[in-house]
Amino acid sequence: MNVNNSLTYIFLVFIGFFMLGQSNTLYAKKKIRKVMIDAGHGGKDPGCHGTYSYEKDITLSVGKKVGQMIQDNLKDVKVMYTRTDDHFAGGDHLSIKESLLYRTELANKEKADLYISIHVNSTPRKNSPVKGTLVLVCGPTRVDEKQEAIGFHTDNIAENEELLSPSDPATQIIVAQYSQAFLTQSIVLASKINDGFVSQGRVAEGIRQQSLQVLASSAMPGVLVEIGYLNNAEEENYLNSESGQQEVASSIFNGIRFYKEEAEKETVQIIKERGN
Ligand SMILES: [Zn+2]
Repeated sequence: MNVNNSLTYIFLVFIGFFMLGQSNTLYAKKKIRKVMIDAGHGGKDPGCHGTYSYEKDITLSVGKKVGQMIQDNLKDVKVMYTRTDDHFAGGDHLSIKESLLYRTELANKEKADLYISIHVNSTPRKNSPVKGTLVLVCGPTRVDEKQEAIGFHTDNIAENEELLSPSDPATQIIVAQYSQAFLTQSIVLASKINDGFVSQGRVAEGIRQQSLQVLASSAMPGVLVEIGYLNNAEEENYLNSESGQQEVASSIFNGIRFYKEEAEKETVQIIKERGN
């Protein structure tokens, strides 16, 4: 149990005493059973482009490879996708922002335990020398939005969410605490994915907190992975190659596997309890 987990545990025990007088036990969710893979863009929205390829095609191909690795190696995890072909998620009538909300709502509705969004970076310049990977987590300016998403989907933080009531101040404290815990967990996942890129010899720009709709409106830990620059000739070739896509996918997959092992080490925690 690391320091963060210990603090969380102490806090949850505190909440337990705080809520004495209620006659039920609330069990926190710990198992990673569903992973939502979000291949960025699609259909009418091609994303960025290089000299011969589009972001939407690369994200779809890499996303499917990540999904396949999960299916092959983590038998207890269900893989879900925001899209599995070249269409605009949610339908062409939606705006880009509405499509992002559609994607996170899907993850919320399906009670996903992790949200993995895959994108390709670019800069305005043609044939830029800039290259590298970047892993993004939800930024501080979106914290309220994140808490709201979790508050609407308390089933994502507790096994028996009927015991949580949005009007109950104690519930609001739990939701705020989970929002912080999800950020910590997202950073753990992001670090592991970044380590994978470094060990593969990629230029890795590291991890950054950024204000992103797609991470703020999902009620679960998540990362957005920028897997390289499409306007860099070398990386465009790499990201279009089978071996390059396999490498990128394996970095993301290994991050998920590590995260799952860490998350499941501890037993289910009791948030509030009163004997009898
Ligand atoms: Zn993108």
